[in-house]
Amino acid sequence: MTTPNFKNFNIEAYRPGKSKVKKLKNVIKLSANESALGMSPKAKKIISKKNFNLDKYPDGKSQNLKKAISNAYKCNPEKIICGAGSDEVIQMICQLFLNSKDEVVVSEYSFLMYRIYSTIVGAKVLFAKENNFKASVKEILKKTSKKTKIVFIANPNNPTGTYLTKKEVLELRKKLNKKILLVIDDAYAEYMKNKDYSSGLDLFKNKDNVFILRTFSKIFGLASLRVGWGYGSKKIVDALKVIKPPFNVNGIAQLAAAESLKDKIFINKSVRHNFLYAKNIKKFLEGYNIYSNSVSANFLLLNFEKCRYSANYLYEKLKNKGILLRSTEDGYRIKNKLRLTIGSKKENLKFMNTVKQVLKK
Ligand SMILES: *Cc1c(COP(=O)(O)O)cnc(C)c1O
Repeated sequence: MTTPNFKNFNIEAYRPGKSKVKKLKNVIKLSANESALGMSPKAKKIISKKNFNLDKYPDGKSQNLKKAISNAYKCNPEKIICGAGSDEVIQMICQLFLNSKDEVVVSEYSFLMYRIYSTIVGAKVLFAKENNFKASVKEILKKTSKKTKIVFIANPNNPTGTYLTKKEVLELRKKLNKKILLVIDDAYAEYMKNKDYSSGLDLFKNKDNVFILRTFSKIFGLASLRVGWGYGSKKIVDALKVIKPPFNVNGIAQLAAAESLKDKIFINKSVRHNFLYAKNIKKFLEGYNIYSNSVSANFLLLNFEKCRYSANYLYEKLKNKGILLRSTEDGYRIKNKLRLTIGSKKENLKFMNTVKQVLKK
């Protein structure tokens, strides 16, 4: 039989952090930066009580969710676009802006989805060097040209955990050609309490050449429901509405997301939990000469350069005991490092105890 011809993309498919180990039940998954405390109890309650009409299409405009977002973040609902994860918003932005031969600039170890979606629509991706696993404004600017359409940054960045300060982000926008769209992915913004940091949304709510990405997959704990949003110029958002799949965000996701925004107590609790354990685990691992980025989001990039053991060694040992970290060799091609998500109290203690068992000081 003949298979009709299709396009060939010279890309590696995204490989998410693993979630299973053969023959083991109760695996502890610290490989995908999901929420340590699950979802807000308020959101859980509302979705378990409500009788959803799953045989009817959801609201394609996600109107109640947009209202809830605009209340929570003091922003204009007409400038919001909702997606099945912020992932889908990245995809739509690439479809809207990029033709073949257009160029996109990302930094060397930036989140993979930017390069993947840009490549799929035929754009050329240029990589800006980083300084010690941190994006560099200077290097990003160096890579831009007349062909550049979009610069993507995740701030803080996944998987490096480093971030550009408020000053650096402002400098980047100021020095970048006005016609280039700056996309700032705020996926971890809610976790950030660092004084020199400001989220993209806080800095650029009214800037027509900056587009912001937000997600409900991280601190809000709704990763499986697939819901995120983008925020930008009304012109861009109106154009995105034309290409958006009509019912992209399901009804349960819309309701749970809107409800979770209201639960400030849960969000604050999650931030405090994260900061406490990120700090403790970082210090604990330094006892084994495993160093990491300064505490920022809900994960640490662990560096094994000074350690007697390799990243792979610890990865395998932990995996065999049912604890999964993210290998940074897949896709990112970062050697001898591992990305660790901060888990629940129980998971974090189990992680530290298991490290104690498998690594001798
Ligand atoms: C996890 C993550 C996202 C979220 O993706 P969703 O599609 O919303 O689940 C987006 N950007 C970055 C940098 C991330 O780490």
